[in-house]
Amino acid sequence: MTAAASDESEESAAQRVLLRDLDRLTGAGCAGCSRRLCGHEALFSLAAGFKDAPRCLACLADALGRTPDELRDHLARYVRHRDCFRHGWEVASEREGAGPAGRPVCLWPAAGGEGRPAGQEESSGPAGAAVPAPAGAWDAGDMGCGDLVLALRGRLNTLPPGAVLKVTARDPAAPLDLPAWCRLTGHRLLSAAHPEYHIQRKEP
Ligand SMILES: [Zn+2]
Ligand SMILES: [Zn+2]
Repeated sequence: MTAAASDESEESAAQRVLLRDLDRLTGAGCAGCSRRLCGHEALFSLAAGFKDAPRCLACLADALGRTPDELRDHLARYVRHRDCFRHGWEVASEREGAGPAGRPVCLWPAAGGEGRPAGQEESSGPAGAAVPAPAGAWDAGDMGCGDLVLALRGRLNTLPPGAVLKVTARDPAAPLDLPAWCRLTGHRLLSAAHPEYHIQRKEP
């Protein structure tokens, strides 16, 4: 088997897992307000590392300390730029009749169509300062996609605010996913030298 063929089968395995999680969370009750989640909100929860306690957009924004509009735009860019999540986004849009590329009305009720195109991911690199000694180390192996960020969120939650976690993540998408997830959640990426990352838990 060629390397390309094996990459492809790994990617579709990740997509299968993602779609199964998406099916399970779509229509589930929000962990905050019990409202039933649409597929896009289910996907947002997966991408943010809330697979174990999915939330509607408003409650997810509340949990992350963001405004719903800002979080929605950020997450929509994020999921469209990640292979495993983008496929889920397209599936959710198709199921809800929202069209694959547009802004679904469930999330943009007043938009009435395509706004500005999904922009480039902001490329704020890791901070240049010296990295404080990590309070813990975690080897995530080749975990990726929603599982990686779910487990990472759980690990960071066991540390005091400001503590640093050294993470080893071999998933080939980690160099994109971890910086994006840190920007999303407010945790600080102090260093990134794949497969090693230092992430500082945000202050409460
Ligand atoms: Zn809610
Ligand atoms: Zn939706």
